[in-house]
Amino acid sequence: MQAASEYDLLILGGGCAGLSLALRLAESDYAGRVGIVEPRREYDDDRSWCFWAPDAHPLTGLVSCRWHRWQLSQRHGALTTRAAAGASYQYVNSLDFYDRALDSIHASRHIELLQGEAAERVYRLNGHLMVDTAKATLRSRWIVDTRPPASEPLAQSTLFQCFHGRVVSLAENSPAAFDPDAVELMTDMQTDPHGFRFSYVLPFDRRRALVEVTRFSRHPIARAQLDEELLELLHRRQWRPASFEREEAAVLPMGLPSASPEPMPGHVRAGTGGGALRAASGYGFLRIQRWATQCCASLVQDGPPLPQPAEPARQAWMDRLFLRVLRDQPEQAPRLFERMFQRVPGPALLRFLGDQASALDCLRLVTALPARPFLKSLVQIQRRDGSQLT
Ligand SMILES: Cc1cc2nc3c(=O)[nH]c(=O)nc-3n(C[C@H](O)[C@H](O)[C@H](O)COP(=O)(O)OP(=O)(O)OC[C@H]3O[C@@H](n4cnc5c(N)ncnc54)[C@H](O)[C@@H]3O)c2cc1C
Repeated sequence: MQAASEYDLLILGGGCAGLSLALRLAESDYAGRVGIVEPRREYDDDRSWCFWAPDAHPLTGLVSCRWHRWQLSQRHGALTTRAAAGASYQYVNSLDFYDRALDSIHASRHIELLQGEAAERVYRLNGHLMVDTAKATLRSRWIVDTRPPASEPLAQSTLFQCFHGRVVSLAENSPAAFDPDAVELMTDMQTDPHGFRFSYVLPFDRRRALVEVTRFSRHPIARAQLDEELLELLHRRQWRPASFEREEAAVLPMGLPSASPEPMPGHVRAGTGGGALRAASGYGFLRIQRWATQCCASLVQDGPPLPQPAEPARQAWMDRLFLRVLRDQPEQAPRLFERMFQRVPGPALLRFLGDQASALDCLRLVTALPARPFLKSLVQIQRRDGSQLT
């Protein structure tokens, strides 16, 4: 009989990536014994996952809100509103996702969630992969590691996307209400000594929305500062809150140096620590879902787990250059985003944002944007360190 601490697959981290894989394994023919090591004891509604997608797709059941129009504006500038036929910006509530995954995991006889445990050490012993937690030593054939990136590579990110938001319910006498038909993707775009900033608003109905302040900055920005800016935004837009339901905040790495996808044979990285977040946007939810589907398919066929796949080279190069422009010339950011959304045809833009861009789509993007800031950054890169972008 197999000892309690032996697994065919250990998943380190039961967040978005770990649970996405476990959910697929629970709903597949995979018969191996799976353990998920997760420090948190309780799951909260801690994030709002959004992405562009066709109106119908495999995750449709988890989408609780969708918007067919999205808006951008520079501070004091006119509003740009865009739409694309058949596609929408969609919202998955993290608690709905966690509940769905946990239900499937608990119903499965071969998947075990080890909650309240953290992986402290991963190593190889006598041909086996071993994981030490404070309570036990676990042994496994395969490891999928979705733990957050270590602090050292994190500190080397090109930029940090820092945001703080609150789900706001408006008072009856609020002078202004939300527009439930359009998401404010990047409004009030501006720059200041900390870099580029904008507002992000997901209106669930006229009286309730997630309102966020976002900054792309060279250094993490204190949450207290972002919260102050958020309250100022609510005041300026005349959204008078009756109550705040919950808060959501993060400091996401943009342009994280690439980690080894397979630190040891059989031990692969996925999720944010595996490079899942798009360098220039910080979006990762759909990438993680695609990876989970592919990784599950490999395991079901008795193959190895797959790491988060590397980004297509052309797109990675473009994103890294874009990120360098945002970092070195933040004053250009409002104009660049506005031009991108105004001039690139909707379907091509959505393919680019959704990692599905063709060479022609990339060309459309390049021709829509002013060349000068990109040339300037390329020259700076060559002069300063002669370094490669990827
Ligand atoms: C607030 C927020 C909003 C976001 N919104 C979007 C969005 O709208 N669209 C989008 O595409 N992307 C979004 N992202 C980016 C990305 O999709 C998410 O960060 C996503 O959760 C990344 O998945 P992950 O599994 O890599 O990390 P997580 O979901 O953070 O999971 C990592 C897990 O590892 C666990 N862990 C930590 N230490 C250990 C340890 N020592 N041992 C074992 N486990 C450990 C953690 O407890 C956690 O459960 C958002 C991120 C945040 C933080």
